[in-house]
Order: sequence, then C-alpha cells, then structure tokens
Amino acid sequence: TKKETTVNDSHAQQTSNTTTSKPVLRLDDVRKSFGSTQVLKGISFDINPHEVVALLGPSGSGKSTLMKCVNLLEQVDDGQIWLGDTDITDPRANQDQIRSRIGVVFQQFNLFPHMSVLKNVTLAAIKVHHWDKDRARTRALELLDRIGMRNKADAYPDQLSGGQQQRVAIARALMTDPELLLLDEITSALDPMLVGEVLHMVAELKSQGTTILMATHEMSFAHEAADRIVLLRNGVIAENGTPREVMDESTNPETREFFAHFR
Ligand code: ADP
Ligand code: MG
Repeated sequence: TKKETTVNDSHAQQTSNTTTSKPVLRLDDVRKSFGSTQVLKGISFDINPHEVVALLGPSGSGKSTLMKCVNLLEQVDDGQIWLGDTDITDPRANQDQIRSRIGVVFQQFNLFPHMSVLKNVTLAAIKVHHWDKDRARTRALELLDRIGMRNKADAYPDQLSGGQQQRVAIARALMTDPELLLLDEITSALDPMLVGEVLHMVAELKSQGTTILMATHEMSFAHEAADRIVLLRNGVIAENGTPREVMDESTNPETREFFAHFR
C-alpha cells in the first residue's frame, strides 16, 4: 500500500542496509483507552531486525500499555500489531505461540521468590511451552553460563542482588530464542549502583543482534545504545528518529523541554 511505501522510504534514509528485510514488529494505528481515557491514539511504527528502539515519554504516557498490547496482556481497541507475518491482534491468533516469540522483562517482581534461579528460568518453557525438562535445563544452564551466573542456578532470588535478579529475568526471557525482546523500565527499581551491569547486558544483546524494544528513563544509555528513539506524548508519537535527531537536534519545544529534564 501507499502507506507502507512511505514508512519504508523514510526508514531507508536512516538504515540503508535493512531496506529489504521485513520488520520484526509493525504497529499500525494502534488505539487503546481505559474508560474515557485515550492512552494510545493511533500509534504506528516498525522495528526492523536487529534494531534497538528506545521507547521514551513521561510517566503515564502509555509506554507500558503499548508494550502490554504487544505482549497480549492488553487488547487493542483498534489498529493492528504484526509480529513478522502474524497479526497478533487477530482474535484467532495462538496466544501462547505468540508469547513464545516475544521475551518480556518488567521493572520488578520478575522472579518467583520461592523458586531457585534454575526453576525460575525453566518454568515457563516447561509449563507454558511444553518443553521437556532436560531441554529446558540445558538451555537455562547455557544462558546462565553466558551471563556468568551458572554458579547461582540453585540460589534463590533473595540471595541475589537486584541487578543479578534482572539479569536472570533477561536470561529467562531469552529461553525460547524470541524474535523480539520487550524491556519495560528494567532498571527503574534498582539501586543506582546496580543499573550498569543490567544495561551492560542489554548492550551485549544488542551486539549479538537481538531485536529490542525498551522503555527507559536512562537517557544516556538510550542515546548511546539505541538505533532509534520513539517518543510518546499525549497518546501519539511525538518523535521517531535517531538519538541524535530526537535528543539533540529536535526543534520541537516540548521535545527539547522533555530532554532538558534529564541533563
Ligand atoms: P507509562 O508506562 O508510560 O508510565 P502507562 O502505560 O503505565 O504509562 O499508563 C498510561 C495511562 O494509562 C496512565 O494514565 C495510566 O493511569 C493508565 N492505565 C494504565 N493501565 C491501566 C488500567 N489497567 N486501567 C486503567 N488505567 C490504566
Ligand atoms: Mg510504565
């Protein structure tokens, strides 16, 4: 369609080497209200393979709602969300299968306190995605090894730092080798001293080619690590561009005001 051509053309100016690849995620005019409050008023953007997109915006601007719509924790009122070739807003879509294609980490309460690290990491793979235990265990230990936490497999969450807990939560999100990783303010509840190790892990995933949508208030990390910034304001996309275009060079007074708060 005409609309898709425009989306691709504008993106081609930013990353000329990915013009032929299909987006991993496409939001097309997504709308969502709670009661009479319109939170998402027609959100459209793409995430291309291997892109890291930082979703920014003031508290209450709809970042979590948008991510919950992508993860099927909320239903959109209107519009479509495509994960590859799958319209995940289609009521007939297979929800468990879609969730296995998307990894999710939240701000807090990611791990079950009464279960070991290994149990936490393998649980969904076994219970939701019906993996056999050996396969889940092997995959989990491999992921824990990669993040230097294999020796914590039998530890319980309260024996880990908050940063280690979030890294375990990321490892769990990667169990099913998802096409897209959603990270919703994963460092916001952490002691400032522990933020770095978690962001470092995100940077490492990026270097391995993981496709990521992350809501964050870590502006310097977003500037450094994101390929693109999507800025939400009043239910619409106020900005969609490179960190430099959006954070340094926007001439929009509200955008400049927003980023001035973080300097
Ligand atoms: P952000 O993650 O950007 O801080 P949210 O998506 O959490 O924003 O919230 C956006 C708006 O939607 C807020 O006004 C919030 O109060 C409202 N909201 C979010 N979830 C619900 C819900 N389940 N019921 C009613 N209102 C909600
Ligand atoms: Mg939020």
